[in-house]
Amino acid sequence: MLYSLSCIYNKAAIYLSYIFFIIFRNGSIERLDEDNNLQRIITSYNEAEDNINVVVSYECETTEKAYKSKIPEYFRVRPLSNKEIKAGDDSVVNFPGNGQVLVDGIPGGPSGGQKAKLFSYNVVFEPGATQEDVLQFSGMKRLIEMGVEGFRCTCFCYGQTGSGKTHTLTGPPGLLGIQTAPYSDKHGLVFRSFMYLFKLIQEQPGIHFVLKASYLEIYNEKVIDLLNPGSARKPLAVRWSKKARGFFVENLFTVDCEELDDLIAVLEEGLRNRSVGKHNMNDYSSRSHTILCVHITSEQPAEGGVFISRSGKINFVDLAGSEMTKKTQSEGKTLEEANNINKSLMVLGYCIASLSDSKRKNSHIPYRDSKLTKLLADSLAGNGVTLMIACISPAKSNIYETINTLRYAARAKKIRTKPVVLM
Ligand code: ADP
Ligand code: MG
Repeated sequence: MLYSLSCIYNKAAIYLSYIFFIIFRNGSIERLDEDNNLQRIITSYNEAEDNINVVVSYECETTEKAYKSKIPEYFRVRPLSNKEIKAGDDSVVNFPGNGQVLVDGIPGGPSGGQKAKLFSYNVVFEPGATQEDVLQFSGMKRLIEMGVEGFRCTCFCYGQTGSGKTHTLTGPPGLLGIQTAPYSDKHGLVFRSFMYLFKLIQEQPGIHFVLKASYLEIYNEKVIDLLNPGSARKPLAVRWSKKARGFFVENLFTVDCEELDDLIAVLEEGLRNRSVGKHNMNDYSSRSHTILCVHITSEQPAEGGVFISRSGKINFVDLAGSEMTKKTQSEGKTLEEANNINKSLMVLGYCIASLSDSKRKNSHIPYRDSKLTKLLADSLAGNGVTLMIACISPAKSNIYETINTLRYAARAKKIRTKPVVLM
């Protein structure tokens, strides 16, 4: 079965057929905005068969499953904020179509003028795209299906502070209490993924599923348990398990989640503990990475009274702001923070580059060089699938960070991990 964008579009057509104002045209999706103007919300790169459009190709041969994966990358460009509009900050990000992003107004053009740069990606979400669009068209649903099938999956959001990473994953600030609040269009990808996960599980009553969740933060290379931080926020150790052949966090609290509400409570508790005692939440959160992990184990009765056991997981990763990588000139505590963020994002980028460069296929991949990459190692390679959502601001004042994010993500799209055979 080949899951390509066209396949996603077919599925989307079914889902969206209830919404009459959606129009599909040449790999893009358009709809009417509040003022009845046609607004494009998504464009995609949609050409030859063996290209980056393949989100995940997945083949089944009797009892063996072989799969091939790569890091598909998606771009989400947020709208200009009211503050940026008031300050007269222009949008410098344009969408020529075909999954392309054109950044203009870059200083340093010929004869002291400006220049433009064109980048191409799998899918670009334009500022009008909704939270539900991101779930439907980002390959996230397929990632969740693979987590249920026993694969180790990661979805990470990358970008500078204020580019929309947290908005995309968990929604705008102040969504605490979502368990009781009515379901809103603001809810992010994590909440929507939980709903889809439970829908999948309920559709398979013959399989016994056990779900457990953990939520941690990596701040200054220290792992803090967001479900059980303790008053001293004592860091936990990251260790290697010989038996599981992977890294794990010692004494990390994991919560059994029998119902959707249990998973949502984990999300809420983690978000609450993340902000406790922090005077400037955005400033603080921009300096830490968080990983919310859902472990999914299942037992399926098979012929001869035996059971097929599967164990998968889905990591939702909100990365520290990528602009911190520049702030290594700072002093004291900020310097230490910046160095650590710098290192972990660089190592993540380096792991991505090593995986994507076929010449370096057999070379050493430096997962061990940061806590973040240690904990993501199993989904970046081997039996793993990773999806990246790069978030960018359209504002001219952020132009250099935008170009850095576009470049960083460009490396990810080349990744192909070796097919593996699972019994
Ligand atoms: P980050 O986590 O990357 O630092 P945030 O997610 O906190 O950035 O976003 C910064 C601000 O921009 C927030 O107020 C958020 O609600 C808003 N925002 C981000 N993305 C969008 C979007 N797609 N639509 C509307 N508002 C957005
Ligand atoms: Mg954030």
